[in-house]
Amino acid sequence: MYDKNNVFYKILQSEIPAKKVFENDVAIAFYDINPMCKIHVLVVSKGLYRNFEEFVRLSSAEETKKFFETVSQVAEEVLGLGKSGYRILTNTGHDAGQEVEHFHVHILGGERL
Ligand code: 5GP
Repeated sequence: MYDKNNVFYKILQSEIPAKKVFENDVAIAFYDINPMCKIHVLVVSKGLYRNFEEFVRLSSAEETKKFFETVSQVAEEVLGLGKSGYRILTNTGHDAGQEVEHFHVHILGGERL
């Protein structure tokens, strides 16, 4: 069961602030509070899914496509990382160290990783 008591849900509700770089109907993107590299942005689903597995299983084909198009758009156009390159990742579950149980993708770049 999705639990609304998580930090990304509060950011989506504007209950706590975030350094936003992009927003549309399926996602919001903002800088990670504890960056792992020079540019570290999180693309957070507006749909309430706990992780990648739930997102893939429960979101519509249209939502799935638009979400990953948004990840690409944020990395390539908003952050301008297309030429230099970047990494995307999503942590799922305990062994991956997933900290926030609300589906999101990390964009990492801005330096050699
Ligand atoms: P996860 O391990 O769940 O894939 O990643 C969660 C990420 O969210 C971490 O990189 C962590 O630094 C980031 N994070 C946690 N709390 C906040 C917050 O309040 N604001 C922002 N901008 N990022 C956060």
